[in-house]
Amino acid sequence: MRNLVVVLGDQLDRESAAFDGFDRSSDRVWMAEAAGESTYVWSHKARIAIFLAAMRHFRDGLDVPVEYRRLNDAENTGTLEGELRASLARLQPQAVVVVEPGEYRIEQMLRRVAGEAGVPLEIRPDRHFLCSKGEFAEHAKGKKKLLLEFFYRWMRQRSGVLMEGSKPAGGDWNFDTENRKSFPKTGPAFLRAPVTFAPDETTAEVLRLVEERFPQHPGRLAHFDWPVTRAQALQALEDFVRHRLPLFGQFQDAMWTREPYLYHSRISAGLNLKLLRTREVLEAAENAYRQGHAPIASVEGFVRQILGWREYVRGVYWQFMPGYEESNALEAHEPLPGFYWDGETEMNCLREAIGQTLDYGYAQHIQRLMVTGLYALLLGVEPRQIHEWYLAVYIDAVEWVEMPNVIGMSQFADGGKMSTKPYIASGKYVQRMSNYCAGCRYDPAKATGAEACPFTTLYWDFLDRHEAFLAGVPRMEMQLRNLRKMSEGERAAIRAQALRHVESLRA
Ligand code: FAD
Ligand code: SF4
Repeated sequence: MRNLVVVLGDQLDRESAAFDGFDRSSDRVWMAEAAGESTYVWSHKARIAIFLAAMRHFRDGLDVPVEYRRLNDAENTGTLEGELRASLARLQPQAVVVVEPGEYRIEQMLRRVAGEAGVPLEIRPDRHFLCSKGEFAEHAKGKKKLLLEFFYRWMRQRSGVLMEGSKPAGGDWNFDTENRKSFPKTGPAFLRAPVTFAPDETTAEVLRLVEERFPQHPGRLAHFDWPVTRAQALQALEDFVRHRLPLFGQFQDAMWTREPYLYHSRISAGLNLKLLRTREVLEAAENAYRQGHAPIASVEGFVRQILGWREYVRGVYWQFMPGYEESNALEAHEPLPGFYWDGETEMNCLREAIGQTLDYGYAQHIQRLMVTGLYALLLGVEPRQIHEWYLAVYIDAVEWVEMPNVIGMSQFADGGKMSTKPYIASGKYVQRMSNYCAGCRYDPAKATGAEACPFTTLYWDFLDRHEAFLAGVPRMEMQLRNLRKMSEGERAAIRAQALRHVESLRA
């Protein structure tokens, strides 16, 4: 055998560099399902299922020889490492070929196993991304702080996406003032349900396997309707562009009870598994603008997520790995509250966001950033624990995108390497952006007393605890000024209330 072409579970693109020059008479694709990939963090059943179902469909669609190890094969060693080692010993290829893995741990494993077997490892560039690791490193060189806004504008210019010559389409780089609205008291107007995909025989078999092998894992499979093939992922993209993109911008930060998807795209897992290609997603959104189907504010908001944030966090991940996962600038050491795994809490926003996460393996950006993430930050949860929770519970969770979003953006554990200041707010933010507070036993306006909202209490307590540190962080002046308007008595009462809350969680 000439090349053993390793295709990892999140590299399901027939056009990827792994297949360049593939010779069906002397090369073979290698894919393996390994239980260890589902247990190194305590993965949601839907996260396990989407990987396995997508891998099996991809294998079935391949027109080249494949060496495929199923999770339930009797001799499965349970780890990717064990599987690859056994295959190299048996097949003795002249080389192992792989596209850049998305995860540092996996890249190290491949280097180790190939090295031990004495087989050359050829790592090919990942064409899925518009900014290579090297280009990002070049962009970051000499910069004290990495800022999304500069990176994003640079990416717009070099890709030509939403550009009119050297000027941004619509005359501006940013349409935030038109976006970020909340719903009226009556809630969202008529919402068309997104296209869904009933499990076919292959997916149904995977769902049974997951229930059988991972019964104690978090989450439920009853609502599993995610795209697991390229054709389905393209259909999901088209459905989003046609029906939800026009209002995506306006309501991208809004939340509403029992409405997990609202105007969001539901394409993150399809993109991260590489069923969808970045360029085609951007093109579909840009065409919607050029054809007058969606306003610039919505399309720019969406493009910013993909061409900006998604490419940016990948660059940040590789810039700071290894070691980024250990960041803990705020010295946070509280354990992750147990209710993150079952949603059993009286805090309505958390009950909604976590309950929905367990049901669907999905939460939109603001639920992740300003509900589950915000609470963990304010409480002072150890960053590594909350990082492992996010990596476990979302169908789109892969480390290169999850880790910077959690460690950097949501927990400010990197001390500001990727965002200028911590995303902190009191319960009033949740009240403004959702209807959660209306159904809650707590009052977001109160920081002390029996009805005090824990978010509001912890918000002031966070400012109080970290006052010295935050004084050195730009754009925190106003929040600190408000803290300093409080009397020492008020601050002491907040500290005591926060302590009672923290202790109630430890009990
Ligand atoms: P939409 O809201 O429709 O957005 C469109 C697309 O933009 C997404 O599909 C995604 O590919 C991209 N995108 C949006 N925001 C981001 C972002 N901050 N970083 C990178 N890409 C982004 N996204 C993941 O794909 N995997 C994760 O593990 C993940 N963990 C997150 C953890 C935290 C704490 C936060 C705050 C965000 C996280 N995100 C993650 C980003 C974002 O929440 C999800 O991409 C989004 O909610 C997925 O839903 P959607 O496809 O409907 O996205
Ligand atoms: Fe969440 Fe506080 Fe609002 Fe309750 S009152 S839903 S805990 S923000």
